[in-house]
Amino acid sequence: MTAINCKGVIRIIIVLRRNSVAIFLFACCFFAIASVVYNLALHPDLEEWQERGLVVSSVATKQKAVALTFDDGPNPEATTEVLDLLQKYEARATFFVLGIHAEKYPALVKNIQYHGHEIGSHGYTHNVRQYNNPEFARSDVKRSIETIASITGIRPRLLRPPGGFLSRDLVSYCVDEKLTIVTWTWYADYKDWKAVDSCLLAKQIIMGVEPGQIILLHDGGENHEIMVNALSLALPSLSRMGYRFVTVSELLALKNQ
Ligand SMILES: [Zn+2]
Repeated sequence: MTAINCKGVIRIIIVLRRNSVAIFLFACCFFAIASVVYNLALHPDLEEWQERGLVVSSVATKQKAVALTFDDGPNPEATTEVLDLLQKYEARATFFVLGIHAEKYPALVKNIQYHGHEIGSHGYTHNVRQYNNPEFARSDVKRSIETIASITGIRPRLLRPPGGFLSRDLVSYCVDEKLTIVTWTWYADYKDWKAVDSCLLAKQIIMGVEPGQIILLHDGGENHEIMVNALSLALPSLSRMGYRFVTVSELLALKNQ
């Protein structure tokens, strides 16, 4: 009787496990497809913009090179720690700074520039909702560009709109202003700003790496300690795998190579 019960229980567990795996795989596929559909539905012109090089989310290259990008800074603690790490591993990166933070910490912006990294604009206020108002979006971007240029002496050529916001008007404005919009490789967004485990975050970055990726990280978030620790684990591993870390502009120059 006991043996029959055990067999029955084992069968139920096997069936449940099979179902769990099936449900898990289904959920993964669903979210992957939903994410692509969401992006395309939200930005019906995205494909055309990408083909024309107006919006860049990754670069087609066979070379083992990726662009690490850091948003929402500069931040006195995180940006400094990230700069130290990048120097240690001879990595170059792109910092999409917020105008309002750049204005507050101009020495940090100069330090990013001094270490040979690229500086792009992430807008001035990070007020994503207001970007639906084309006039606000234009003036916010313009103000951030002017702020960065007044600190570095160089006008940024790259814009990452806050929240990845895209609209026809914003793209048109960027064309006029000769700004390239840089988003990120959608599967290289590991939500570092809410990660709770730096080892897991590092593992995700390492396991998910592919040539030409634009990896999204945040040096301006509240959760930057986890990100910095993850980076300290991921950089040496990726280097051993043969990857090098370049700025977005350098990555763009590797297209089709
Ligand atoms: Zn941001």
